[in-house]
Amino acid sequence: MSFSHLSHLECSRTGARYDADVVQGLSDAGAPMLARYDLDAVRAAVTPADLASRPPDLWRYHEVLPVRDPAHVTTLGEGMTPLLPLPTYGARVGVPGLRMKDEGLVPTGSFKARGAAVGVSRARELGVRAVAMPTNGNAGAAWSMYAARAGIGSLVVMPVDAPEITRRECVAAGAEVHLVDGLINHAGAIVKQAVADREGYQEVATLKEPYRIEGKKTMGYEIAEQLGWQVPDVILYPAGGGVGLIGIHKAMLEMRELGWIGDRLPRLVAVQSTGCPPIVDAFEAGLEESTLVDGTHTLAFGINVPKALGDFLVLRAVRESEGTAVAVSDEQILAELARLAADEGTWVCPEGAACFAAAARLREEGWIAETDDVVVLNTGSGLKYPETVPADVPVLPRDARL
Ligand SMILES: *Cc1c(COP(=O)(O)O)cnc(C)c1O
Repeated sequence: MSFSHLSHLECSRTGARYDADVVQGLSDAGAPMLARYDLDAVRAAVTPADLASRPPDLWRYHEVLPVRDPAHVTTLGEGMTPLLPLPTYGARVGVPGLRMKDEGLVPTGSFKARGAAVGVSRARELGVRAVAMPTNGNAGAAWSMYAARAGIGSLVVMPVDAPEITRRECVAAGAEVHLVDGLINHAGAIVKQAVADREGYQEVATLKEPYRIEGKKTMGYEIAEQLGWQVPDVILYPAGGGVGLIGIHKAMLEMRELGWIGDRLPRLVAVQSTGCPPIVDAFEAGLEESTLVDGTHTLAFGINVPKALGDFLVLRAVRESEGTAVAVSDEQILAELARLAADEGTWVCPEGAACFAAAARLREEGWIAETDDVVVLNTGSGLKYPETVPADVPVLPRDARL
């Protein structure tokens, strides 16, 4: 029995085939590569019922993950996050069937751990000595922690104003960390040059290696499994590089081909900030690719990506699924974040809050129906963003009576 049924890699633009068992970057067309599996073999090897007895982490889907030898699996227990009903908040916004997939509970406090777990495991399997990446913070934190766990090196370059906690996580993991006075695209150029000069380093920037997306697609598998192999009507996702959305779409197509779910797919919503909305702009203009946005700014740092390498894949997934793309302001993000904590006792990250703001808006506009089952991805823990909530609480004298 094979642990993985990985078959080959495929250029996401041309469909050209590539060998999956050597370290690969972008395709010859300069596009991300997608992992392909022998799904007939997977269908014969495992059924949804078999999965039920496996450990509650993302490796339960190992047949459709790229790691061939279980000895190379690098895990900190990531995956199988709760899919929480939100009855109070849902009633407030008129979507009683609203649920939150809470990725704040994974190691390193963001869903970047999924991509890092699978990406680092496969890099280690293919003999990579160190991984190198630009990051807005959470990816660097996750990849450097998983690299430490795997016993390989990590090089991280991040904007100077990325959340400081993520910088500290990289330092704690023993990564080589650098700050740049610029945005993630500036960090990317520095990493690219460094990797070219260093032996055994792999560039693992968003979509520049094929396996981060495989880790993130497990969110799609989990949502279906947690709903009894049904899919919701709508899934909202905060899109920066868009890996999670591309991954969830890929998971849906794979599960449909496997016969694990029916024909109907969820409508996927890409949520961005009005301070950085390249994918929303492209969606509204009917374009297949986004245009670089200058001078972007948002407190939702994870979605401050002025031009994503996989933008065309995000737009394709949104359109194919009859979804949409929505931008919300930082004010709306902060308001929703506070409301959710007060209504449900859950402190989401700003990126997750953006999706709640978008869900409320789409309900108001009628794009989401009252009867829809809706899943919002909260991609990280609010604890990583303490400054989103005020702390100006008065100090009492010791003899105070309340
Ligand atoms: C990175 C990140 C995102 C965006 O993820 P992409 O895969 O780049 O679209 C959203 N939320 C948080 C908390 C992140 O760290």
